[in-house]
Amino acid sequence: KKNLEQIHQLAFYDALTGLPNRRLLLDRLQFALARSARNRREGALLFIDLDNFKQLNDTLGHDMGDLLLQQVGDRLLDQLRQEDSLARLGGDEFVLMLENLDPEPQAAIAAIEQVADKLLRALAKPFELPGHSHDSSASIGVALFSQPHDRPEELLKHADLAMYEAKAAGRNTLRFFDPRMQQALTARAALEHELRRALADGQLLLHYQPQVDQHGTLLGVEALVRWQHPQRGLVPPGEFIPLAEGCGLILPIGRWILHSACRQLASWAQDPGQTGLTLAINVSARQFHHPDFVADVLAALTESGADPQRLELELTESQLVQDIEALIGKMGQLKAHGVRFSLDDFGTGYSSLSYLKRLPLDQLKIDRSFVHDLQGSASDTAIVRTILALGQALELRVIAEGVENQAQRDALLRLGCHYFQGYLYGAPQPAEQLGLHGTTPASVRQGAGLQG
Ligand code: C2E
Ligand code: MG
Ligand code: MG
Repeated sequence: KKNLEQIHQLAFYDALTGLPNRRLLLDRLQFALARSARNRREGALLFIDLDNFKQLNDTLGHDMGDLLLQQVGDRLLDQLRQEDSLARLGGDEFVLMLENLDPEPQAAIAAIEQVADKLLRALAKPFELPGHSHDSSASIGVALFSQPHDRPEELLKHADLAMYEAKAAGRNTLRFFDPRMQQALTARAALEHELRRALADGQLLLHYQPQVDQHGTLLGVEALVRWQHPQRGLVPPGEFIPLAEGCGLILPIGRWILHSACRQLASWAQDPGQTGLTLAINVSARQFHHPDFVADVLAALTESGADPQRLELELTESQLVQDIEALIGKMGQLKAHGVRFSLDDFGTGYSSLSYLKRLPLDQLKIDRSFVHDLQGSASDTAIVRTILALGQALELRVIAEGVENQAQRDALLRLGCHYFQGYLYGAPQPAEQLGLHGTTPASVRQGAGLQG
């Protein structure tokens, strides 16, 4: 019987402080949540973390650290009511569970603040350690039972997140888990779900933005993806491409863009006057580094009958940081078929000049941030000048993006830039509005689902 008791103690209690451990806390939390739902009383988890505990551990040693943690546990217990439940998760992390709070949010929050304040003040008094008086403080994160959460673990995570906010706010303070943090998390998950559907339901479509030379002659277009969302309207790529990159959806989406753009390119080329037009597409790092990428591009070209020399792939500098040798290899393979490469948003990332020389690039795109303030900013002028000189030295064409007015265009031309893209020459628009001859493949026009 004694052994059993000991096993139970070891399994559910922290050996150092004798407080319940994480397992027991989660167990109790499960019951507390059910109780709170039943009797409509609010409850809360307070995640308490000592400030600068590691410092004490590192300077005075772990024995001293252990003594401090025991004293912290005692002090916290001193402040609590009988029904409150205190646990130690490990390290310098304690969690207090409060039950039976007022269901009215303001009243509950006020009560929690009062408790937290008491705890913070108790922990801010000096601790007497052997031969040493130690000043400490703590940060507290709070999550309410009534906030939406799936499981006790998730509620604990919310309190933990809020605790980090308290640390960021300067320590020795408390923060409540902000429902907006929760909303952002939920919205993200919903968007990801919808994006999966979008691809299958054909809600993605391509717009095209003109690229011109100094005479305003159309040389080509850049394809920019949009999401025709049934409720939200036209969603710009900045709101879903990063999400797609994060969850891997960028691979099927990128493949759809590639195939659609190649079909559009082939259709335009049927008019002899337009065979020279190029079509640029943006390629995400994750897409480019996928083992099938080269084969995909070649398949899209073959299936559509598009001229590889008219296809341009836009990479960003961030792509150049990982596995540069593999990147150069893949670019070389595609280059051998005539595919062109452009370095997008140039000047905003970290380009190693020695790599730049080794990459089979055709073009640099001056980022629109440098174009925007060109007239007002001496440093932006200097940067543009430098990019143009670099382009010349490396024998790369340089195009400026985000050209919105004649003054910007003239300033760029004076510096020696001869290629432009921006609202001055046209916004990204559906293919039919570009005034080019050729049918827009139905799958592109309607943004039909992934094929081929
Ligand atoms: P980006 O490739 O640098 O595209 C240029 C962005 O500048 C486009 O925004 C375009 O609408 C905008 N823009 C064009 N002219 C002007 C102008 O005169 N002034 C200003 N202020 N902006 C201008 P968009 O379409 O929202 O695309 C944003 C970014 O999303 C793109 O930047 C690109 O990085 C990414 N993206 C767009 N389409 C795709 C795609 O098909 N695949 C991938 N992987 N990324 C894409
Ligand atoms: Mg681009
Ligand atoms: Mg760009």
